[in-house]
Amino acid sequence: MDKNQAKIRIEKLSQEINKIRYQYHVLDKPDVTDEIYDSLTKELRELEEKFPDLKLPDSPTQRIGGKPLEKFQKVKHRVRQWSFDDVFDFSELEKWEEKIVRMKERDVSLKNEKLEYICEIKIDGLKIILNYKNGIFVQGATRGDGLIGEDATKNIKTIYSIPLKLNFPVDLTAVGECWLSKHELERINKTRKKQNEPLFANSRNVAAGSIRQLDPKVAASRKLDSFVYDIDHIAYNMKHETKENRIPQTQLEELELLEKLGFKVNQERKLCKNIEEIQKFYESWKNRKDKEDYGIDGVVIKINSRVIQEALGYTGKSPRWGVAYKFPAEKVTTIIEDIKIQVGRTGALTPVAHLRPVVVAGSTVSRATLHNEDEINRLDTRIGDTVVIRKAGDVIPEVVEVLKNLRTGEEKKFKMPTVCPICGSAVQREEINEKKKETSSATYCKNKKCFAQEKEKIIHFVSKKGFNIDGLGERIVEQLMNEGLVSNFSDIFELTKGDLEPLERFAEKSAENLLFAIEKSKKITLPKFLFALGIRHAGEETAVLIAKAIKTEFPISNFQFPNNFQFSISNLTKIFPEINKENWTNIKGIGEKSAESLVEWFGSQENIEILEKMAELGVEIVVEKEAENRDKKLENLTFVLTGELQSFTRDGVKDIIRKEGGDVSSSVSRKIDYVLVGENPGSKFGKAKELGVKIIGEEEFKKLIKL
Ligand code: ZN
Repeated sequence: MDKNQAKIRIEKLSQEINKIRYQYHVLDKPDVTDEIYDSLTKELRELEEKFPDLKLPDSPTQRIGGKPLEKFQKVKHRVRQWSFDDVFDFSELEKWEEKIVRMKERDVSLKNEKLEYICEIKIDGLKIILNYKNGIFVQGATRGDGLIGEDATKNIKTIYSIPLKLNFPVDLTAVGECWLSKHELERINKTRKKQNEPLFANSRNVAAGSIRQLDPKVAASRKLDSFVYDIDHIAYNMKHETKENRIPQTQLEELELLEKLGFKVNQERKLCKNIEEIQKFYESWKNRKDKEDYGIDGVVIKINSRVIQEALGYTGKSPRWGVAYKFPAEKVTTIIEDIKIQVGRTGALTPVAHLRPVVVAGSTVSRATLHNEDEINRLDTRIGDTVVIRKAGDVIPEVVEVLKNLRTGEEKKFKMPTVCPICGSAVQREEINEKKKETSSATYCKNKKCFAQEKEKIIHFVSKKGFNIDGLGERIVEQLMNEGLVSNFSDIFELTKGDLEPLERFAEKSAENLLFAIEKSKKITLPKFLFALGIRHAGEETAVLIAKAIKTEFPISNFQFPNNFQFSISNLTKIFPEINKENWTNIKGIGEKSAESLVEWFGSQENIEILEKMAELGVEIVVEKEAENRDKKLENLTFVLTGELQSFTRDGVKDIIRKEGGDVSSSVSRKIDYVLVGENPGSKFGKAKELGVKIIGEEEFKKLIKL
C-alpha cells in the first residue's frame, strides 16, 4: 500500500469506526459486532504506526468510550474509568510482561514486592459503577466516556444481586459488570417472537439496552445479573481499623472484601506466578467459555500487588498494570485481493476469495468461499472489497458481509467465466435444490476428466521426486482442491494453519506437520524443481540434463552468464520463455518432443506467473551443499540401473550417483560407464554384456562410493 492509498484508507476507516462507535455506544443499536469494530480498529492502528504523519488529529484510536446519552442525568465518576489494552495472543502477552518486569526492576522501591498476576474472567456485559454511602446504595452509573457516565440508579436497583445495603457501613465506589444470562435471553426472545417483535441478537446488547432505559420497569422485567470486581474508593466509618476493615493490599484481597461486603463476585479466578500459568488458565477458558450461562470474551489479567499497580500507573489511555487477553474473534475484516474459480470433484465451479491473510478464530487464513454466483450477487462482492469473514468451529471460512462504506471506487466486479478455467470446456448453469425450500444455482464444467487431470498434476508436483511434501497424499490433495484451497502449484505455499484446520482429517497437529513439510520443501534442487512442473516429455532425466547444462555450457549463446551465476526462479522466468526449440535440442539428450513441450510450457504467461508467485512465497532453487564442497567420487561417470537392489532403493541410488557428480541414463549404449546390476536384471543386462559395458554389482558400487 503506498502513501496515497494509505491516506484514503485511514480516512475511510476512521469514518466507519466513528460511525460504529456512535451506533454502539450512543444509540445502543450496533449493526456490527464488537469483533468487526476491533478488527477495523486494529487495521487503523497498524496503518497509523506505519504512516505516523497520516494519523488524523481526531483519530478514533485516541478516544475511549462513548458519549453519555442526553436523556440521562450525568454522573462525574469519582475515579476515571479506564479500560485495559487488549492482547490477542501469547506473544503479545509476553511483550506486555517484559515491559512490566523492566519497569518494576527499574523502580528500587518495588524491590521487595512480589510480582504476581490475578486472572479473572472477562464478562461480556455492561460496565456499571456503584456508589455506597455509609453502606447504603446511593447511585449507579454507566461508564460513558470514562469521565462522565449516565445515572442509571433506578435500573440498577432492579438487579437482585446488587446489594442495596452492605454488610459494613462503608463509603465505597465499586465497579462491576451487569449481564444477562443466555437462558434469560432465550426466554425474552420467546416472548418477543409470540408478540411478533424483532429478536435480540446477543445478551450484551439486551443488558446495555435495559440499563439505558428511562423506564425501570423494562429492566425489572429482564432478570439482569451482576459480577463486581473492583474497588475504586473505600473509606470505613468505623472507629478502629481491624482485620475486617483493612484496606485491601492486593486485587485478590479486594475481591475477597467485595464478597464479604455482600456483592456477587465471580469465583473463577486464579493467582498466577508467571505468564505460562496465565496461558494455561486462558486456554482452559477458551475451551469451556461457551458452557457458562454468561458471555465471556476473554481473561482480564491484573498485577496482584496494589503497590506495584500504583507505581506502574497509566498511559494516556489505559492502566499499565493490566491487560484484557481476548479470545480469538470468529469474525474479522480483511480485503479480497482476488477472486478465483475452483473446479471441484463434481465439476462445480466455486468462486473463492483470495484474502489478505488474516487471523480468525486463532489462526491465519488466506482463502474464503464465496459459495456461488448468486451469493456474490446477493452480497455484491467485488475484488478489492473489505469484507467480514467468519470461521466458526470446523466450518470452512466464508465471506458473510461486504463493508461497502470502505470502497474507494477501485473495486472490480467479478464475472463468472463462460468456459471452464482449467480445461476450457463450455460451462453450464444448473438450478440445484439444496434444501427443499431453497433453490440455488451452480455452474458446472461438463468435462468429466477435468478435475482428475488437475489433481494428477498436483500429485506429481508434490511427489517424492518433485517437491517431496510429506503428508500430501492423493486424498488430501483432492480435499484441498475440492475446498478451493489449492488450484495451482503456488497455492500450496500459501496454505495456512487456519485454512487446513477446518478440513476433515486435519487436527491441529497434522496441519502443523503438513505446513512444516511444505516449508521444508521450499528449498529444492533445480532438477527436482523442473521435474515437479510435470512438463510433458520432460521427465526426471530431462530435468537432470537441463540442470547440468545450465551449470556448464548453457545452450543459448545469446545469454552471457557471469562467473558466479546462481540459478534462481527469477532467472528462470526471465530466460526460459526465450529459449527456442533449437536451443533446447542443443542440450545433449534432449529430443524434439521434449523441446517442443518445454517451449510450450515456458511460453505460457500463466505458468510463468505461477512460478513468480512461488518465488514470492519463498520457494528457492538451491545447490546441494555437500555435493558441491567435496571431492565427488563419480564425477563424469554415467550409470544404467537394472534389477532389484538390496541395500538401496532405486531413487536412493540415483540420488547418490547424482550427488557424487555422476549421471543416470535409462538406456545402455557404449557411452555408458557402468551398468549396476541387481537381482533379476532386465534386458539391459544382456545389452550391456553384448556391448562390452562394464557391469558391477552392489558391493562393487559401494566400494566406488567408499561406503
Ligand atoms: Zn473443466
